[in-house]
Amino acid sequence: MNSVFMPRTMNSLWEIMEEEPGALLFAGGTDLLVKLRQSISEPPSLVCLERIEVLKGIKEIKEDLFIGACTTHSLLMNDSLIRYRCPVLVKALKVLGSPPIRNMGTIGGNICTASPAADTLPPLYVMGAEVEIRSRNSSRRMLLSEFILGPGKTRLKAGEIVFGIWLSKASEYNIHYFEKVGQRNSLAIAIVSLAALLKVSSSGTIEKASLAWGSVGPTVVTSTTVEEALTGQPLSLETLQKAGQLARDAVSPIDDVRAGASYRRQVAGNLLLRLLEATEISTDKYTYA
Ligand SMILES: Cc1cc2nc3c(=O)[nH]c(=O)nc-3n(C[C@H](O)[C@H](O)[C@H](O)COP(=O)(O)OP(=O)(O)OC[C@H]3O[C@@H](n4cnc5c(N)ncnc54)[C@H](O)[C@@H]3O)c2cc1C
Repeated sequence: MNSVFMPRTMNSLWEIMEEEPGALLFAGGTDLLVKLRQSISEPPSLVCLERIEVLKGIKEIKEDLFIGACTTHSLLMNDSLIRYRCPVLVKALKVLGSPPIRNMGTIGGNICTASPAADTLPPLYVMGAEVEIRSRNSSRRMLLSEFILGPGKTRLKAGEIVFGIWLSKASEYNIHYFEKVGQRNSLAIAIVSLAALLKVSSSGTIEKASLAWGSVGPTVVTSTTVEEALTGQPLSLETLQKAGQLARDAVSPIDDVRAGASYRRQVAGNLLLRLLEATEISTDKYTYA
């Protein structure tokens, strides 16, 4: 019978990881435990991260926000600082799974699963999120877009964990948009998703754009071609239609049980048209308890 370890401190985590190099880490277990249940081989030893306090919560550190890897989706979407500073992330969290999944699942788990359909990834990409990786003796930071290599693949090495996520507090953007298209309205895995941040001037010109699509490639898809096609243009149907065509060329979807590649490609472009209806959000005048 293999063991389940539940360390309460980082020191005891490092000790367990050294003594049990084959043990698998989990936080909420909503991905890993489901996967293990489907496996016919003997379950490995497990190390649960959820009791390590330093891995949980949201902190403001100078100009940045730090989110501990084991922060649950529920905690994040109800946090006043995240609601004001990261509306695009909150919109994605609201449609991630169901309340029980959001109460158990964590942002670190969503990132490390590295699914192209993971709902937090497109918002984190458009916000330029960085991942902090720690081992017993070292710590390194890299862009999330560099950390994720492909479906289920990351740059995490043996002996390392994701310690947390760093986001810049400053945002020039006044439009924060996220939409997930699935087979139903709730408990749906993304067929296509789009996170978009736009800076639109008072005269209606798009001054800056950051876009990321989920579920239309092996990892989240970004496109400087689409962003450049939007920049300097009026936020109009014509601009978005042109950018939508470029988006269809930028994505590389596959056929799977949920949808065909051509449908996904079409929707990836169509979602841009929704930006016409997106309402302006100011994160400058925020107050929080
Ligand atoms: C019914 C159901 C519905 C779902 N719906 C959605 C959905 O709509 N959208 C969506 O994006 N996801 C969905 N998921 C997937 C899952 O809930 C999320 O990906 C969740 O965020 C995973 O977090 P977790 O803490 O449970 O991960 P875990 O299962 O604990 O871990 C997942 C993986 O990450 C690794 N890991 C976890 N934390 C760390 C860390 N700090 N450092 C290093 N490695 C780590 C684990 O080793 C494991 O490989 C759903 C799952 C279920 C069961």
